[in-house]
Amino acid sequence: MPRGMMPRRPAKTGRHEGARLKAGLPIARPPKSKHVALPQKRAKDGPAAAPRGYKPTAPERISEILKRLDQLYPNVTCALTHKNAWELLVATILSAQSTDVRVNLVTPEIFRKYPTVQDFARLEPEQLEADIRSTGFFRNKSKSVVGAARKIVHDFGGTVPEKMDELLTLPGVARKTANVVLGTWFKKAEGLVVDTHVHRISRRLELTKNDDPKNIEQDVMRVVPRQKWILFAHQIIWHGRKLCFARSPKCLDCPLENICHAEDKTWTTVDRHKGAEA
Ligand code: SF4
Repeated sequence: MPRGMMPRRPAKTGRHEGARLKAGLPIARPPKSKHVALPQKRAKDGPAAAPRGYKPTAPERISEILKRLDQLYPNVTCALTHKNAWELLVATILSAQSTDVRVNLVTPEIFRKYPTVQDFARLEPEQLEADIRSTGFFRNKSKSVVGAARKIVHDFGGTVPEKMDELLTLPGVARKTANVVLGTWFKKAEGLVVDTHVHRISRRLELTKNDDPKNIEQDVMRVVPRQKWILFAHQIIWHGRKLCFARSPKCLDCPLENICHAEDKTWTTVDRHKGAEA
C-alpha cells in the first residue's frame, strides 16, 4: 500500500489524547449507544455503503452528537459584533463570502459614521462602498444594506421586523441571514442557520444527504429538537472553525470522531460511509 494511504492509528502511548487535552478538548471515548457502536472495520478498505439498518438520524445518535457538542462548545454564540438587531443584520449581510473577523474590523467604523438605520436609509449605495470594500462583493452588499435600511424605515417604522416572512422581504436577506437575526437577537427558533460550516458538517455527520441549504435546513430541523436549533447552529459553526475544516479536518482531535463516518475524514477508528462528505 502506498505511503499515506493508511489512516493513522492512535499512538499506544496516548500521545493523540495529549493533543486533545492540550487543546482543552474532551477525549472521544467508545460509544455506549447501540446506534453508534458500529463494527470496527478498518478504513483501509476505503469508504463503503452504510451497513443495512444503520440510521444516522436515530434519536440516540442525535442525542450523543448534541451531548458532545454541548461539552465542547457550551456557551457559544454569534461571533459578529453587534449592539442591536440592525447592526447584526448589516454584519450578517457583510459576512457573505467574507469572515467574521474581517466584518468585525469594518462594522465599528460604519456604525460610528452612520449610527442609525435612518442614516443608512439616507445614503446612496455608492457612498457606502468604500467603507465595506474589504468584505468583498461591496457593490451588491452596499445595495443590499441601503435597500434594507430604506425598506425598514418606510415599511416597518424603522424597526427590524421579527418575523421570517417580513425579514425575507428585505433586499439581500435570505433565510440564512433571517435565521441569524431571529435566533441570535430575537431568540426565535423559526428556522436553522445553514452557512458553509453547517452545510458541510451536516453532510459529514449524515444528518442530510442534500446539497441545497433550504433542504439541509429542513432535514436538520426534523432531527434536532427545536429548542436546540439556535445553539446547535452556533456549535456547528464553531466546530467548523476549530476542527472540522473544509480541507484536512482535525479528526484526530475531534470528540465526535467515533460517531462520525465522513468519507473525507483524515483519521478514523470507524467505517467511512460513501456519500457522507462535504
Ligand atoms: S471526525 Fe473529522 S470529519 Fe467528523 S466531525 Fe470530527 S473533524 Fe469533522
